Amino acid sequence: MAFYLASGCMGCEMAVVDSLHRIFDGFESFEIVWSVPMFTSSRYDELDSIPDGHIDVTIIEGGVGTGEVKDIVTKLRKKSKKIIALGTCAVFGGVPALAAFHTVDEITGEVFSKTRPEKQVVHDGKYILKLPEMEIQKPLDEVVGVDHYLPGCPPKPEVIVDLFSNLKNLKEKWIISGKSVCS
Ligand code: SF4
Repeated sequence: MAFYLASGCMGCEMAVVDSLHRIFDGFESFEIVWSVPMFTSSRYDELDSIPDGHIDVTIIEGGVGTGEVKDIVTKLRKKSKKIIALGTCAVFGGVPALAAFHTVDEITGEVFSKTRPEKQVVHDGKYILKLPEMEIQKPLDEVVGVDHYLPGCPPKPEVIVDLFSNLKNLKEKWIISGKSVCS
């Protein structure tokens, strides 16, 4: 299996780590072949050497907010039999997608005028390079096909444990198929 932190805050992956002691039996039956940034800290270029369709299950946290993320999830789609969208950002776009309702100037003005009012920080594009180009953070399935959805911000531990219990069946019997919402 593979894990990828796309445009998320890492809260969903932390929730998986928090649940590890409860899912260890199911978890150890999988080999993690690629993971960024958790578990193995793989390099991005290592993904290229994995054959298409080789990964049984890839779990992706976060939506698609940059061109780089779009490239990686597109590669992961080719290399994975199943893609699971983990968390509200991956399933619906989440909090980052709310940026679509405002301009870059409105967002930076709101943030910096409150946190650094004395400095009057002016956004010059230097530190927020990605925002203008992404337009809106997209849910994962607006960019690549998704097989299963696990919403929640982050998903509840018991739901994550259920997911990993089902992953065992998924690997052995492929009993989960088509789109399904798991919580
Ligand atoms: Fe973070 Fe919540 Fe998005 Fe998960 S769903 S990446 S916890 S903001």
